[in-house]
Amino acid sequence: MKLAIIGTGYVGLVTGAGLADFGWDVTCVDIDKKKIEELKKGKMPFYESGLEPLVKKNLMENRLSFTYNVSESIKNSDVIFIAVGTPSKEDGSTDLSQVYDAAKIIANSINSYKLVVLKSTVPIGTTRKIYRFITEASNIKNNFDIAFNPEFLREGSAVHDFFHPDRVVVGTEKPSAFEMLKEIYRPLYLVQTPFVFTEIEAAELIKYAANSFLAIKITFINEIANLCENVGADVYDVLKALGLDGRIGPKFLHPGPGYGGSCFPKDTKSFVVTARGYGSPLTLVEATIRANEEHKNRMVKKVERMLGGKLKGKIVGILGLAFKPETDDMRESPTITIIEKLLEKGADIKAYDPQAMENAKKIFGEKIEYCNNEYEVAKDSNILVIATEWNQFRALDLEKVKNLMKEPIIADLRNVLDLKMAKDNGFIYEGVGRR
Ligand code: NAD
Repeated sequence: MKLAIIGTGYVGLVTGAGLADFGWDVTCVDIDKKKIEELKKGKMPFYESGLEPLVKKNLMENRLSFTYNVSESIKNSDVIFIAVGTPSKEDGSTDLSQVYDAAKIIANSINSYKLVVLKSTVPIGTTRKIYRFITEASNIKNNFDIAFNPEFLREGSAVHDFFHPDRVVVGTEKPSAFEMLKEIYRPLYLVQTPFVFTEIEAAELIKYAANSFLAIKITFINEIANLCENVGADVYDVLKALGLDGRIGPKFLHPGPGYGGSCFPKDTKSFVVTARGYGSPLTLVEATIRANEEHKNRMVKKVERMLGGKLKGKIVGILGLAFKPETDDMRESPTITIIEKLLEKGADIKAYDPQAMENAKKIFGEKIEYCNNEYEVAKDSNILVIATEWNQFRALDLEKVKNLMKEPIIADLRNVLDLKMAKDNGFIYEGVGRR
């Protein structure tokens, strides 16, 4: 079997390189010519730990190739994965134009049997619509099957997640399509990775339900952290006891500045719109979206309060811009909202992120000052805001930082510093939910 992956972004590239490493002949396809040309030379379009060696190895061993000739790659493949973007529209619903563009080229290029595997996250009902669309638009009727195979990788550990997924979910009506995917993912099957073979709609729903559940969990703990601050409790005492309850578990209970990233914000919004369309409102998810926005506002108020209620003319140093560490992705990073609001209130911003500076420049332009490291950010700042939990910020030289800053104030929105150490070094310090 030859495989083509349409869309060479975070999901498409990791999946393509991973499947090539399983031994398959994989072509990664994208309409972005510059991206493809650079990939052919082994240059990554984004930062993802462990991805570059994986891509280079499989390029060298001729199992992985790159092209922008979408039609040709479809003709030459047996299985076509669609991994294009599915961003949000203004009203929260999903913009499926990239998926339909890919489907149109598939319809026009089918020359023999194909299995089309939709990997992009799409609203419930989309996979069947794409099946009908390709059937109606193609010359060769019914010479293909379709499956929905959601992706659960986490940016920052995407390569690890590809090789060690918690489960593989496949939604299709055709047992033969499931068998083909089982064969493609055979190395995972052999190491006992659970496979969930289900209906198309169930598979589509699983992806949204999983992301929404995680968004609810994060938001819940952020609200508990806020309450802890107001009652004088330490959120980590609460978390420890909560996590020890086997029904709750300790994972994903980390207070922070609010969830962000390329998935949770858009997927929760899309899930809400889709569910309302089916007459089953998801009131808990709707409340979560509102609470997450409110939590980001609280972070701005925290910074303002720590500066004595006045932001105008103050220099706020931001450490970390990406929505999480080990990625350069700034899509829906909570830092964007926080910086925009601080700017509105008259603050001057200096910022540094180990990987996301280029992406940050596309968002903030000339509005903020970009620094080369954490100590340049600290210099002359009135407050230091730790916004992404990069490891290097955990080991800040606090004495050096204090000597560089105008005022010794730290708002640690990721709780990465040791509270006692920060205070012993003479800082006015606040985390999220810490006593
Ligand atoms: P991305 O924006 O990084 O990549 C999408 C790529 O598709 C881009 O390179 C774009 O140029 C290309 N593309 C668009 N239209 C095309 C076409 N017609 N033909 C060929 N290429 C085309 O997106 P991503 O973050 O990889 O996400 C892809 C999908 O996977 C989304 O539905 C997303 O929700 C889902 N997902 C993402 C993650 C994640 O962590 N990023 C995790 C799980 C699922």
